Amino acid sequence: MWIGIDDTDSPEGMCTTYLGAVLARRLAEAGMQIRSLRLIRLNPNVIWKTRGNAAVAIEAEGDPDLAFAIGSDLIDELADLACDRTNPGLVICGGTRPPASFAEQAITGFCTIDEAIAACEGVSARYAGWKNGRGLIGATAAIAADLRDSTSEILVYREGASCGTKRSVDPITLRLAEEVTFPHTWDTVDRMNRTIVCVPHTPDPVLFGIRGENPVWVSLARHLIRSETPELEAIFETNQGTDAHLIWGFIGSLEEGRSYLVSGTVSSSPVTGIGGHVSLLIRDGEYSLTCMAYEPTKGFRDVIRALAPGDRVVVCGSYKDSSLNLEKILIITAEPISFWDAPICPSCGKKMTSAGADKGYKCRLCSMRMRDPVIRRRDRMIAPGWYEVPPSARRHLARPLCRGAPAILNDVVRDISDPINVNQQK
Ligand code: ATP
Repeated sequence: MWIGIDDTDSPEGMCTTYLGAVLARRLAEAGMQIRSLRLIRLNPNVIWKTRGNAAVAIEAEGDPDLAFAIGSDLIDELADLACDRTNPGLVICGGTRPPASFAEQAITGFCTIDEAIAACEGVSARYAGWKNGRGLIGATAAIAADLRDSTSEILVYREGASCGTKRSVDPITLRLAEEVTFPHTWDTVDRMNRTIVCVPHTPDPVLFGIRGENPVWVSLARHLIRSETPELEAIFETNQGTDAHLIWGFIGSLEEGRSYLVSGTVSSSPVTGIGGHVSLLIRDGEYSLTCMAYEPTKGFRDVIRALAPGDRVVVCGSYKDSSLNLEKILIITAEPISFWDAPICPSCGKKMTSAGADKGYKCRLCSMRMRDPVIRRRDRMIAPGWYEVPPSARRHLARPLCRGAPAILNDVVRDISDPINVNQQK
């Protein structure tokens, strides 16, 4: 059977992944066999999310009625039901899961509670919603998700009494874990910006989480880390780091709240605005799109600033408030810039200067004159290839470049003779 849960936390505490890990432990104590734990990230742009829009699914063998009773009791016990915005959902189905298309819609777009109920009833799933039952959307999507590409995360949870206090995790061991296991694990620390990424600052039960290719790598990294004594830990299979939220889009027909890959040509020089946010205008035919690299993306903004009109790019990110928030970018072409310049005097080798409007150029030393300027080429500060935001600014679903460039782009980059550069930040 598959068990899905969502929407159990609030900004003041709890975390659906923790509730999922505790539920797996209770089901096992009741004699059920746990086959897998899944952490499914849904559309990062939904307004109802508490933090990272996560939902959890458990694959188990056992009595569905008993599992439903244990799951319901646990939600009553642990979910932050006092919070207005906490509306849990619990779904349990047998062999047939709700259609994968429902999960795809929840990851790349928006779903309604009625659509979730219809998907559950279509496969005769047991379901229950608390309060307005919005969590049924995530709970259904979590069990419906088809993980064509997946990664792993080991989540380590604090003792209940410690929640809300300062977390104690040895930063030296975090750096060591990154050093030893990167690129098979990622986003433990942000070396360039000297920040720890894997330890949250919110008052939830998560002590730290290590993301990586598979359970072996995340376990290896985890065992290098020293910290306060945890209460519980669990390894999840997840769609984090897979770009599952991205769909192809075309400038002029992007929808608010969805995340896209969009190709276009830079149409004006990038501009750094108030707060250090950088905006970039790209064009496709008659349509333009503003792309934003916000201040938290740190050094990534230098890549955007180095772009120039005429550069061909593919941009990836969420379309919100009529602009695309950049997560990564493929620079397809960045040709040297051609410009007119004063010629060099053939007689004395000095650079000539303008002799006045429409009067050509004149050498200030020997007075030689020449009619035409010369064309020069300025090499670029940026090379074609992929560039991404640093780990500290990365979205859960965004595929880090250490996993390679998105396969979905093969068609676009076929015309590039050189292999694509992957400019990953370690
Ligand atoms: P936690 O990680 O602890 O679960 P969260 O950040 O994931 O917190 P939730 O508290 O789960 O956020 O709130 C997200 C709510 O939005 C849930 O009720 C979920 O069912 C709903 N939801 C998620 N994705 C979509 C979507 N694509 N369309 C509509 N509703 C969605």
